[in-house]
Amino acid sequence: MKKKYLLSLDQGTTSSRAIIFDETGNIRGSSAREFKQLYPQPGWVEHNPYDILGSQMGVISEAIASAGLTPRDIEAIGITNQRETTLVWDAETGEPICNAIVWQCRRTAEAAERLIREGYERLIYGKTGLIPDAYFSATKLRWILDNVAGARARADAGKLRFGTVDTYLLWHLTGGRVHATDFTNASRTMLFNIHTLDWDDDLLEIFGVPRSMLPEVHPSGFMYGATETGIVGRSIPVCAMAGDQQAALFGQLCTHKGDMKNTYGTGCFLLMNAGDEAPQSKRGLITTLAASVGRPDYALEGSVFVGGAAVQWLRDELRMIRTAADSEKYAVRVSDAGGVYVVPAFVGLGAPHWDSRARGTVTGITRGTTKEHFIRAVLESIAYQVFDVMHAMERDTGIKPTALKVDGGASANDFLMQFQADISDCKVVRPKVVETTALGASYLAGLTCGYFNGLADIEANAQTDRTFAPTFDEAKRQALLLGWEEAIGKAKYR
Ligand code: ADP
Repeated sequence: MKKKYLLSLDQGTTSSRAIIFDETGNIRGSSAREFKQLYPQPGWVEHNPYDILGSQMGVISEAIASAGLTPRDIEAIGITNQRETTLVWDAETGEPICNAIVWQCRRTAEAAERLIREGYERLIYGKTGLIPDAYFSATKLRWILDNVAGARARADAGKLRFGTVDTYLLWHLTGGRVHATDFTNASRTMLFNIHTLDWDDDLLEIFGVPRSMLPEVHPSGFMYGATETGIVGRSIPVCAMAGDQQAALFGQLCTHKGDMKNTYGTGCFLLMNAGDEAPQSKRGLITTLAASVGRPDYALEGSVFVGGAAVQWLRDELRMIRTAADSEKYAVRVSDAGGVYVVPAFVGLGAPHWDSRARGTVTGITRGTTKEHFIRAVLESIAYQVFDVMHAMERDTGIKPTALKVDGGASANDFLMQFQADISDCKVVRPKVVETTALGASYLAGLTCGYFNGLADIEANAQTDRTFAPTFDEAKRQALLLGWEEAIGKAKYR
């Protein structure tokens, strides 16, 4: 029989990509297309739904061609996507009634704050695992229903459909036949009860959302439907959908309780598999659903607002380095940061500190401080911030992590990875294929359609690029952490 491949569609915030994987999880072909970010007002971020669709559909055939394949060689499709971004379209024609409101958009910040003021925080956290914020889909959807002419009446008459990006792509791939989402995407809407695994009537009432708008919800790995022949020249089953961070957690094979991954991008996204019981965070982490083929596990999630962005700051604003990779060259020229701590709280501090009014701070500078110390302190600050989230997860769950799986642009920095291992007293594991988001979607699709026999099949082929083992003695580690805590204290507003 001829060899077959899996196709992942990775619909991100700034680009749409298609990647082809073989049975060993190696990349055989790919294509990417950036699309336009729309900023109609300060703090507002939108995408034209046709840009999302056009860029994503366009790269499918390019990726297949780049691998020297034809659509016949593709066994199944998995979708992974930017989360929370909200779309509404006409149930008959599929025509969007307005632009997509992107997760970053702050237009509903006041609405989210009002929910907290009115005392809904506990109810919402209890049902959804989320802390009310404009980030999640619910306030965006209500904004559309309240502000787009005729939307409320059409929604009440059952004539509109809501979806996150996975749902919107699936709808179009299947020619408008399938209106569905998966648990991971549903868990980011702030309308979904992560305990009953159903849309929550109380929340639908609070946000004024009729149930008829909402997609069916299934596990991430599920036979969602088949593509219309016209789209890729052949009908191919769509066997998986998952939000990007949860897809990456699965792509890193964090399928057991306590498994943890961090993505070092512009910001950092840390997720821990928390097993089959929802943890209650006392430290401001959110609880979300993990990707799965059957009933989903829970995951704890925390993010660091400024991760790799601090390296961009060194490069673009301070002009201390020419390329992001240069940061490593400077950092390893000194044996430590010389007592300097940089807290890049440029936009406040997230979990577990939660101080929106905190600002960037540098401590410990002396006459002997050099550029090398400063750059090293900036890289170290990324690791300290990630450690703070890891530590909060450990305290919330009682599980001490044994390994941190890593990916994202800045995970290429060996110095940073070694320091992360040292300061966290935990092994850091970097996989060979760092496209873990797309890889996760392909694993889920392959498991669902029988391309893989089981997880063991996948685990046998997963390859590690490098493992970084911790080297600090405990006294040194604690002394450095104490210095970081003091620096954080100075960055805080209060
Ligand atoms: P995103 O998906 O958020 O755009 P990426 O995963 O592409 O992010 O990672 C880009 C980020 O990683 C940038 O902020 C960049 O400064 C940082 N980065 C890239 N390479 C390195 C490196 N070698 N050392 C440190 N930071 C790096």
